[in-house]
Amino acid sequence: MKQRRVSSGLMLLIAAFFFQHSASQDAADGSPRLVRITDSVFRTVHRPGATNSVVIVTDEGLAVIDGTCRGEGNPEWLKAELGRLYDVPVKYVILSHDHEDHICGLQVFDDTAVTVSHASAREHIVREGRNTSIPDVVFEEQMEIHLGGKTLFLYHFGHTHSNNLIQIHLPEEGVLIAPDIVWGERAVALPDFRDAHVENLIETLGVLARLDNVDIVIPGHAGPTTQQGFLDFRDYVVALRDRVLNEMVQGASIEQIIERVTMDDFADYLNMATWRRTNIISMWDNMYRWREPNYDDSPGNYQSLYPIGYPIGEFGLPE
Ligand SMILES: [Zn+2]
Repeated sequence: MKQRRVSSGLMLLIAAFFFQHSASQDAADGSPRLVRITDSVFRTVHRPGATNSVVIVTDEGLAVIDGTCRGEGNPEWLKAELGRLYDVPVKYVILSHDHEDHICGLQVFDDTAVTVSHASAREHIVREGRNTSIPDVVFEEQMEIHLGGKTLFLYHFGHTHSNNLIQIHLPEEGVLIAPDIVWGERAVALPDFRDAHVENLIETLGVLARLDNVDIVIPGHAGPTTQQGFLDFRDYVVALRDRVLNEMVQGASIEQIIERVTMDDFADYLNMATWRRTNIISMWDNMYRWREPNYDDSPGNYQSLYPIGYPIGEFGLPE
């Protein structure tokens, strides 16, 4: 335990160093490179904001988590780079969830790798015809991968951002890879809540913030952060949900809600100004499906109760 605490402090220092280091590299030029995060964990750095690929290096093989086709640090480049740097193959490709921006092009590793995802991710991938590797192995709640003496724990805490988002944990190095559920400290992590389950997202952010043996959190689109990022994003989602819902209960239209829910107290959050509008619209949509307003059948009130134009007066029911 004592050793764990000592290494936690060291890991934070390392995380801080690499965060600054990679951020400055991002700004300098967009040519792709692999940046070391811990002894055996690396992430790709290329176009700012592009999806991270994370690579776990062991003596017996490599594991690649996620890939994007938006930027030069794509899986084709990554495959060539890994072939140049290591004499062991990519044994596992792990898909964080089904969104194409996170898994694009990963079929280039099919010649040596087993592809792993949540069971529901495979369904989406096949249905939508995603440009990626179709998973060979799927799981529901938790899975372990043992590779070169290291153990990767894969978690699924239910429907959060998509119904198939997972996190990947390497406890011995204090690393949690958590795409699309955190962006950094004081940051909005998502442009919208389109296929999200808002209540379980809030719950899971608390669970991830309390996970043991996590010194460094690697998000899906930015450099390393800490578990504080989960708590900061949770504060924002809770406030947004409560404010949008309160306006809806008062009878406000979506246009009025966009105007009134300013989120000014979160003005310093990264991405807030860019994503506030789409966050509100998709939160409104979530809450619309989550609650039933009081019934008022007086003439002229149908449209206020049913803003999508529910044709309540046109049923033609028998007397
Ligand atoms: Zn996503």
